[in-house]
Amino acid sequence: EAKRSGRNRARFFLPEMHHQVQERVTIQQGIGAAITENQLFLEYQPIFDLNTRTMIGAEALLRWKHPEKGKLEPDTFIPIVEESDQIGNLTRWIIQQVCDDLHSQPVLSKALKLTINISSVILNQPELAQQLNNTLRHIRRPHQQICLEITETSLMKNLDNTLPLLKQWKEAGYSIWIDDFGTGYSSLSYLARLPIDGVKIDRSFINDFENSKPVIEAILALAETMQLLVVSEGIEEPTQQQALTEMGCTFGQGYLLSGPVDFSRLNEIFTHAENSKSPSNNKI
Ligand code: C2E
Ligand code: MG
Ligand code: MG
Ligand code: MG
Repeated sequence: EAKRSGRNRARFFLPEMHHQVQERVTIQQGIGAAITENQLFLEYQPIFDLNTRTMIGAEALLRWKHPEKGKLEPDTFIPIVEESDQIGNLTRWIIQQVCDDLHSQPVLSKALKLTINISSVILNQPELAQQLNNTLRHIRRPHQQICLEITETSLMKNLDNTLPLLKQWKEAGYSIWIDDFGTGYSSLSYLARLPIDGVKIDRSFINDFENSKPVIEAILALAETMQLLVVSEGIEEPTQQQALTEMGCTFGQGYLLSGPVDFSRLNEIFTHAENSKSPSNNKI
């Protein structure tokens, strides 16, 4: 009996497991070629001050144009790359690309912050900070122009090791934000000790605004007490933007304001946002 169900189970599970292993291998082997053969590119999603309607920065988001699979979403391959030693190469590529993009647009204001998503597993490579320092010096851009986003989940997994590294990045002049805040069970006692500038409220709360309002209020109150800045992610509806502004959330990001765009469009959006501060103009 047991043997038979065991065999059935094996028959049932193996193809699926095989498929997942295959998928991992394809991605882990493919990412190297993706880097060298220019299959990767970045899009940038603007972040706005909800009160003044100015663009304050933009988040770099990775895209992979896979030769067979087409455009791959970062959520489908970054977690797999993070489990391999390729994450170092990938992060170096992203840092270099962000700096190249910055360098390509000398008119883009130095007041704009570019944020880079970074996995906490990679923070422990001191040469990454060195690479960023060197490249920024080379293109004559201040460290203050770069901001790191680390997801709450990845941060809390490995806090004791990460804390001294975060301090080093912070002391070098980079801002640090906690991404997807509210989903990762932060220890409040730790939060006070982290050298962070702000938190990004996870878009799941903004999505489900009516039910999540108490949570958003709690995060805003916490941030005020701790003197942290707050960005709301995933704003899609004018009512959400309005309510968040009234609740005292300063910054926002989302399809309503702007989706991710080519780097070359940022200056245009920045200039447009600057010029359309009048409250009668509903479009940011
Ligand atoms: P994230 O850092 O929380 O990035 C925000 C994600 O929400 C992006 O998806 C963005 O396109 C999407 N988004 C923005 N506004 C809206 C909206 O109004 N509605 C909805 N439904 N979605 C919105 P994307 O580009 O697919 O990235 C997904 C995740 O992949 C990111 O989440 C981040 O964790 C990771 N990721 C992206 N680029 C990188 C990278 O360069 N390095 C690392 N380590 N992770 C990255
Ligand atoms: Mg992010
Ligand atoms: Mg996020
Ligand atoms: Mg995310």
